[in-house]
Amino acid sequence: MRFRLKYVMIAIAIFAIGVAVLTLNRREAAPRLAVPFDISEVGFIHSDARSSAPPIAPVEDSTAFDMWQRNLRSRLVSIFDVENAISTESSFEVTNVQHLDDGLTRTMMAFESFDGSMIPAVLQRREGSLPRAAILLISGHTKPDESGLAQLVVGESSYQHAAATKLAHAGYVTLAFELRGFGELGKLQNTDHRLVAYNALLEGEFYKKIVIADAYYALRVLMRSEGVDTNRIGVAGVSFGGELAVAFAALSENVQAVYFAGYGGRTGAFGYATGTADDQPHYCHIIPGHRRLMRREDIILLLAPRSVLGMRGEREGPVSDEFRSRTQQAWSSSGAPDNYSFEVAKGGGHEFFVSRSIAFFDDAFKPVLSTH
Ligand SMILES: [Zn+2]
Repeated sequence: MRFRLKYVMIAIAIFAIGVAVLTLNRREAAPRLAVPFDISEVGFIHSDARSSAPPIAPVEDSTAFDMWQRNLRSRLVSIFDVENAISTESSFEVTNVQHLDDGLTRTMMAFESFDGSMIPAVLQRREGSLPRAAILLISGHTKPDESGLAQLVVGESSYQHAAATKLAHAGYVTLAFELRGFGELGKLQNTDHRLVAYNALLEGEFYKKIVIADAYYALRVLMRSEGVDTNRIGVAGVSFGGELAVAFAALSENVQAVYFAGYGGRTGAFGYATGTADDQPHYCHIIPGHRRLMRREDIILLLAPRSVLGMRGEREGPVSDEFRSRTQQAWSSSGAPDNYSFEVAKGGGHEFFVSRSIAFFDDAFKPVLSTH
């Protein structure tokens, strides 16, 4: 028996060696040009011949900067087709109202967006005097089995730290909604945001345009909710949620204060994808023509002179000096140098710094909160 097993093992070994040799031979047989091209870096295929990164925003000259802002904003309003995004009536269905022990009222609902999709959202407010400033929260990326909406409402230990609930405790009326392709709008329906983004491109649309349109509908629900001071509207988000909060505020004149974390800090043209990054790029970040339209810092510059706090955790790495000086200069040229700051949270990571965001909004909306 042992004798036989030995022969079987030898036969298997010979077979394995044979397969290996055949595979190697096949590889060697792959056609190659006798003289290879000298491709010194992966980015070789990305010719700069068609590239025209836009000129640097004139942040030093207030008149020129004002014109630059108007020009870029109107181009973005057109690309995002904002007029269409906000022209239809919206409706929502309340699915559940909870009166929590801590005095918070939590209304769970779904609002109808531009294409008839029902977007899950949670409106929260504290009992008490009115009117109140309101904050729209936009979620960042979540893993396939996670909900950004849930993280913003009850996800204390998540990187979004239940920010919508804590801001509501602090006296704001808050609304958080689910991003398409995530959470309630993701895995449960066997899809995810990369598919939403891909399919949007097939239609000549793009992911950001779709979710920014959702944000307009969400803001309308928030602004029409009882006791909200529509002259005191803020947006907030971390990571991709911060990126979306900035984009939304850049387009919407209704927003007076913006808090973002885990986003920003770099300047210059948007770099090409080269294949050397850790991951394939997400199509969710792309605005068509992005690279020709603006530099990395430009969409943040569109927020001047409004109240803005940008943050990042110390562990996320340094902020470029150029980013600091150009953003600060934009606010100075807009006549409101104190309305902007970009802070690094000591020991912090890629996360929503909730206490700091509350202090920021309290400061930005002081005239209203002081009446409480
Ligand atoms: Zn993405």
